[in-house]
Amino acid sequence: MQGCAYVDGTFITPEDAKISIFDWGFLHSDATYDVAHVWQGRFFRLDDHLARFEASLAALHLDPGLDRAGMREVMHECVRRAGLKDAYVEVLCTRGRPAPGSRDPRTCTNRFMAFAIPFVWIADPAKQRAGIDMIVGTPQRIPASSVDPRVKNYHWLDFVLGLFEAYGRGGETVVLTDGAGHLTEGPGFNVFVVKDGVVATPAAGVLEGVSRRTVIELARAAGLPVQVRAVAVDELRGADEVFLSSTGGGVIPIHSVDGVPVAGRARGSFGPVSERLQAAYWALHDDPRYGEPVRY
Ligand code: PLP
Repeated sequence: MQGCAYVDGTFITPEDAKISIFDWGFLHSDATYDVAHVWQGRFFRLDDHLARFEASLAALHLDPGLDRAGMREVMHECVRRAGLKDAYVEVLCTRGRPAPGSRDPRTCTNRFMAFAIPFVWIADPAKQRAGIDMIVGTPQRIPASSVDPRVKNYHWLDFVLGLFEAYGRGGETVVLTDGAGHLTEGPGFNVFVVKDGVVATPAAGVLEGVSRRTVIELARAAGLPVQVRAVAVDELRGADEVFLSSTGGGVIPIHSVDGVPVAGRARGSFGPVSERLQAAYWALHDDPRYGEPVRY
């Protein structure tokens, strides 16, 4: 596998990147992470990813042992060593292992790791051109009062069971609800609905995606009204357009929800707002204010 990882202060191959099974990151999903991407040799909104990662670390009392400049340097070095022009770059911090005989998380030595691998799409470009078939899953997204979704986390069993349900019902991905009739998010993405030219996305119970923020900014710059509010599941059914946002592919249009084509469109045909925002998302990658050249 092409790529480079950073574990215990050393740059190694992805195959050699391993952790102890006694690390609470593995045993209890006691960890946080962030994923940035490099496109055509430039990091996209790297400071926004690092700021979110720092907020997640602070919320979980995790100490990566590096400041922002140190983490940024490791990310650049992983991409440089891997020789990648388009990359998926993850930083993570696990709780580590407690002192022998202790169950006190304060005794753990936290561990910072990172890796760069070839760019990962949540749906590859061919699939995106066809449009994604999404279902509304039965599992309820873990409530924000239990695990704050703004802290990027590996608590994905609700998503994973939702994905099994999606594949079982002929779909490809899943969006989960809050159990009270509102949309939350899906495995690796935020969700948007468009109705009568108004763009809406859930305000709460979701990770505040960097791509979600980009979409909101681009839509507002284009003069489109944007509502960040509770979005009812039923709004998916009557929507003119539905799309996802993710570091793993930007703006990704949805073809159908629960087997019903959005706005009755033919496969491969999408609404004007999704198409416009998708183009604007990729065009923004050429803007030096959002890109940071990799130090190859
Ligand atoms: N929601 C969840 C649960 C995610 O895991 C992700 C990304 O991995 C997102 C939303 C989208 O966030 P971003 O746009 O920062 O990639």
